[in-house]
Amino acid sequence: MPVSEKRRLQLRAGGMKYRRTQKGRDAMAKWLKGYRKREREKNRAHGIANKAIPLEGLCRRCRKLPAVGRHHEDYSKPLDVVLACKSCHDILDAEKVKRTSACTE
Ligand SMILES: [Zn+2]
Repeated sequence: MPVSEKRRLQLRAGGMKYRRTQKGRDAMAKWLKGYRKREREKNRAHGIANKAIPLEGLCRRCRKLPAVGRHHEDYSKPLDVVLACKSCHDILDAEKVKRTSACTE
C-alpha cells in the first residue's frame, strides 16, 4: 500500500524526534560505529583485491562482457572475488543486500 505524502512526513518527523532522544542518539551512535567498521573492512578488501587480482577476461557471471570489477561476497575474505561486468556486478550486489538483510530480520 503506498504511503501518502502526509503520512510520509509524519513518519519522518517522528524519526527526527526520536533521533533527538537519548535512546535515538545511542542507536545512531551504535549504527555509525558498525558502519565505520564495515567501511574499513570494505576499503581494506578493495585495496588487497585490486593489487592481487588483475581484471582480465570475461565476466564470470554472464560470460559475454569483459570483467570491469571485482565483486566481494564477504569483505572479510578480500581475495574471494568474482570478476564481473558492470551490470552483473550490480545484480550480484543487489542479491547480496537481499541475502544479508534477510539474515538480520
Ligand atoms: Zn556480466
